[in-house]
Amino acid sequence: MTRRDLLASLAAPALAQRPKLPNIVLIFADDLGSGDLSCYGHPTIRTPHLDRMAAEGVRFTQFYSAASLCSPSRVALMTGRYPVRSGINYVLFPDSTGGLPESEVTIAQLLKKRGYATQIVGKWHLGHLPQYLPTRHGFDHYFGIPFSNDMSLATNVVYDEIATRRGGAPRPPRALERYRTLPGVPLMRDEEVLERDPDQTQITARYTTEATGFLRKAAAARQPFFLYLAHTMPHVPLFSSERFRGKSRGGRFGDAVEELDWSVGEIRRTLAELKLEQDTLILFTSDNGATVQLGDHGGSNGPLREGKGTTWDGGYREPFIASWKGRIAPGRVASDVASTLDFFPTLARLAGVTPPKDLALDGRDLAPLLWETGGRPQADFFYYFAGALHGMRRGPWKLRFPNPSQPEKVELYHLESDFAERFNVAAHHTDVVAQMRDAIATHRASFEPAVTQR
Ligand code: MG
Repeated sequence: MTRRDLLASLAAPALAQRPKLPNIVLIFADDLGSGDLSCYGHPTIRTPHLDRMAAEGVRFTQFYSAASLCSPSRVALMTGRYPVRSGINYVLFPDSTGGLPESEVTIAQLLKKRGYATQIVGKWHLGHLPQYLPTRHGFDHYFGIPFSNDMSLATNVVYDEIATRRGGAPRPPRALERYRTLPGVPLMRDEEVLERDPDQTQITARYTTEATGFLRKAAAARQPFFLYLAHTMPHVPLFSSERFRGKSRGGRFGDAVEELDWSVGEIRRTLAELKLEQDTLILFTSDNGATVQLGDHGGSNGPLREGKGTTWDGGYREPFIASWKGRIAPGRVASDVASTLDFFPTLARLAGVTPPKDLALDGRDLAPLLWETGGRPQADFFYYFAGALHGMRRGPWKLRFPNPSQPEKVELYHLESDFAERFNVAAHHTDVVAQMRDAIATHRASFEPAVTQR
């Protein structure tokens, strides 16, 4: 079934016959690590709004993003499929010609078909050419920076500042070469560029104003809504507005995170004012782990090993908090393994859409873990990086290929007792290794990877 056939099969019901559908707010941070919120144990960064959201909802301790890099992580979030299925295997740049293929189905497209108002605010990062923009993939409107905030000559110099501040040398001049002929980072509305290299000290506040404005408009129209608020922060270069600058004990990274936390508070306050708390599911997570090699410009993955851009768990594990007044029981901490791949099937079911059997989805409905009782069997999770399979999680075990081109070499970690991946126990559990190798072979044989987009 092509995307067109699928979407055609979802004829939107007439307005009068629409069941009351819940609203969905998905808040996505950029490069926020699993140890960066106070409710996840950060010693100095204060996140009272997210802490309250966790106290009033559920907080997950073993939640995965489907990739440890921005673009692949985001395609998995939008499509419910591993990045290799769409070919978004690498980070896209301002000179990339690729992007989200037309053949993919996004969650926004399904929700729009069901009559939702759909809005994205922030970082899209699935292609900036017109055919790849969110307005071509199910969103009514877009406001934001379409790729990373460091992708211009003016902003990319941050890496030289970081290197020299840490006692190193600036990069060779060629490191900035790709940006010399490119325009500044764009701030877009729908398909138009509004500004180049906008003042990023105001970016979190501007996104928040845009997002709360959308909530008010959708509420006034009595239309169910899907807001995808994909923050630019706390990706480097780090910025925060006057009100937050220099205020956090967590330094400039802490300032940016505390402003994000304020933003979450504004979204929840607006929903409360609109009396929509009982009609709205709010999800908060991040695209990939903290960039620990950036020192105080990067965040923390707590006790997890390494971070962004690696296949260690510090790159893939995220804070995940969900709240829905009257539906999700307050104050729960869930240790089930789940991932951003699960959002697509969860939100589709919430909106009353059954994805067709021949649309291969990699996630599973989260409802049993969020508001139903009884839990669900643990799902397998596969670690993809740059188009290659680097490992697998099953139950407490992680099988890891230190070099995927030498698949005979494996490592095995028991992540529930050794969450920092310090002790390779492959030699002691050959049965587990054999079972997981079989599962990987079955998974590999189940589909053909797509052509890589660059
Ligand atoms: Mg990121």
